[in-house]
Amino acid sequence: MVISAGRRTPQHDTVIALLAAADHFLSARTIRDELAGSSRPVSLATVYRTLRELTEAGTVDRIHSSTGETLYHLRDRVHDSYLVCRSCGVAVPISTDPAQSRVAAAATAHGFTDVTITVDVTAMCPDCSA
Ligand SMILES: [Zn+2]
Repeated sequence: MVISAGRRTPQHDTVIALLAAADHFLSARTIRDELAGSSRPVSLATVYRTLRELTEAGTVDRIHSSTGETLYHLRDRVHDSYLVCRSCGVAVPISTDPAQSRVAAAATAHGFTDVTITVDVTAMCPDCSA
């Protein structure tokens, strides 16, 4: 994956590496906390700046947790949507392309242009519902 968001710094790369290794959506505070014990701690301000740059570049997806916190995950370009556990936050990439194509066609039929569709599904994962 090529990531070309903003000015590259070691802190920036550290945040991206953590996001790339995560199979969960992460909050900015979780990212800061997970890096706090590493050889490259990163301030919360730097985490937020990096996430803002990645969001503007379209390389991360954002969802809101049940507590209203914003959570981040590097975008998987093969899959277009996520199935997200609302309890533990595990994120499974899924394809909703057939449904999105129908929605886009409906929007176009109503004369809307530059259509953006975001489909994320929240549910309880098998571990949390066991
Ligand atoms: Zn779960």
